[in-house]
Amino acid sequence: MAKKITYLDHNASAPLLPDAKRAIIDALELVGNPSSIHYCGRKLSKIIVLAQDKIAKISGAKRDEVVFTSSATESINQAIKGAVKALNIDKIIICAGEHKAALKAAENSGVGLEKFSLLNNGQIDLLQFKQILGKIDESEETALICVHEVNNETGTIQPIREIEKIIAPTRHYLFVDAVQAFAKMELNFSSRFVDMMAISAHKIGGPVGVGALLMKSHCDEVRLIEGGGQQKNRRGGTLPAALIAGFGEAAIEFPKKYNEQLLKELIEKIETGLRKLSDNLVVFAKNSERMGNIINFAIPGLKAEIAMMGLDLEGVQLSSGSACSSGKVAHSHVLRAMGVSLQLASESLRVSLGWNSTIEDVERFLSAFAKVLKTRKFAKMVKN
Ligand code: PLP
Repeated sequence: MAKKITYLDHNASAPLLPDAKRAIIDALELVGNPSSIHYCGRKLSKIIVLAQDKIAKISGAKRDEVVFTSSATESINQAIKGAVKALNIDKIIICAGEHKAALKAAENSGVGLEKFSLLNNGQIDLLQFKQILGKIDESEETALICVHEVNNETGTIQPIREIEKIIAPTRHYLFVDAVQAFAKMELNFSSRFVDMMAISAHKIGGPVGVGALLMKSHCDEVRLIEGGGQQKNRRGGTLPAALIAGFGEAAIEFPKKYNEQLLKELIEKIETGLRKLSDNLVVFAKNSERMGNIINFAIPGLKAEIAMMGLDLEGVQLSSGSACSSGKVAHSHVLRAMGVSLQLASESLRVSLGWNSTIEDVERFLSAFAKVLKTRKFAKMVKN
């Protein structure tokens, strides 16, 4: 019998929405290249335009500002590396809590880099940001500011409107990674202070393999992948109409199915349940404005890998704040930027819920977690 899976890792990738799946399958039935001017090509190109419209509608963008890419990782690389070239950026000012795609793209962009940190509650340190910005002589240097709208690890909602106000009197550029906010909260791409924004399909029940970079027209030269002139020269490569159809459908269907209030209540139940299991529960970013679908926590003394292994055996899927790559354990740079100790960062676990999460998921998680604590003989230790 197949193992019952309790999927609590929506921020990593959300399950495909049935409507998105149907749109993908329908589009796969079609033949052709969306750039061709014959009937088949035009049919596919119509799918692209419809998807642009659906994405534009919920992000405050105009149809023509939606440029499809293979992922938000690509969108981020295009925004950062492309801007350095096309907009003559001299300096990148980036939040230390950005996704690794942004941090690495910025580090490898060939221009100077200034990082500002997060406060203990997970929010952007606006004071530090202002100080860094204040040191730039605008007559000599142009900066690209890189921030995220919602943090993928803690769910903290960042004060993007404040950032916009701070940069309003300057001529610097603003790029926002809105991956974890798109379709979950109102986005404001129409703001004249936001120049580019990255989004991704698979975080909202669309397919993996497609993302978008929202670009204002004055950023049209910001490119990464050269090609056959697709998307008005902004991103080369034949467009994957089926994936894009799924992305567009998800953009419309996800907000109808994503119930922030219900998820908030489920997360509260998780927190209450965990407190019953351990008096020492630490919830990260507890005192910030957070998305309702997420809890990032640690129980001191319980290593994340151990908990993850035990939970996996029970069919429970979630994320940890530490990742093992090339034989080395890397601790969450987000938690570290918030001032969390290495030890506690290595114990962090993230539950992220989404469009199909239920109370049964919460109950299964809590009973699996209780089992893990018992079998690892942690119960006594963490209770004290
Ligand atoms: N930015 C944020 C905030 C994310 O959470 C993610 C995915 O985890 C990405 C960027 C990268 O998205 P993609 O998987 O589409 O490359």
